Amino acid sequence: MTLTFLGASHGIPEPHRRCSCTMVTIGERIYFVDMGVMAICDLTDRGLPVEAVKGIFITHMHGDHTNGLIHFADLISWYYTASDPEIFLPLLEGKEIIDSWIALSCHATRDLRYKQVAEGSVFDDGFLKVTAVRTQHTKSSFSYRLEAEGKAVLFTGDLRRPDADFPKGLAKDADLIICEGAHFPATEYKPFLEEASPERVIVNHYAPWNIPHIMELSKALPDLHITMATDGMEVNL
Ligand SMILES: [Zn+2]
Ligand SMILES: [Zn+2]
Repeated sequence: MTLTFLGASHGIPEPHRRCSCTMVTIGERIYFVDMGVMAICDLTDRGLPVEAVKGIFITHMHGDHTNGLIHFADLISWYYTASDPEIFLPLLEGKEIIDSWIALSCHATRDLRYKQVAEGSVFDDGFLKVTAVRTQHTKSSFSYRLEAEGKAVLFTGDLRRPDADFPKGLAKDADLIICEGAHFPATEYKPFLEEASPERVIVNHYAPWNIPHIMELSKALPDLHITMATDGMEVNL
């Protein structure tokens, strides 16, 4: 499983850091966690087929995690029509809104496979298993655990703060934990990362003010490999 950070910024773009989007590649199959960027442009840059996208997992509906989804849904509605991913939305009302927007452009919309995210097992196509747990960031927000090829990755998604909603159950035995870094000092992760003790931690979605706290977290937990995500960064598990 390879993760490619296409957007590692927080709620707004930073220089050379776009909004949230991570591409997950398993063999020839592609998945996304959040889509705050125009992901088809990134696929095209890399020579990857849009038809290879099998699943899109949105953590919550804030624009920095979803603004690329309308672009994606629009293009697969009328051009890349062989592309048929399952699209997991924390609020399924988003489907009507995206369909209405696309209808304004006079393209015929086709039925895309939107699904409501719920707690528990949400996806298993024989290659990737995804499990979701609610967080308290919005009225419908989720953390995801992705499992493939014997490895497990936790995406915290946006949280209220770790002592309120860090997804301990999903963190258990994870090889990699991807923590958000926009809403509280990253040092608040310390007891939870100590307990989960993953091989690697990547702080993603971080605001500039949090960088000193991320460094402090890294110093406080020298046995964990803690780094910050940057756009284009690839991680192989
Ligand atoms: Zn966010
Ligand atoms: Zn958010």
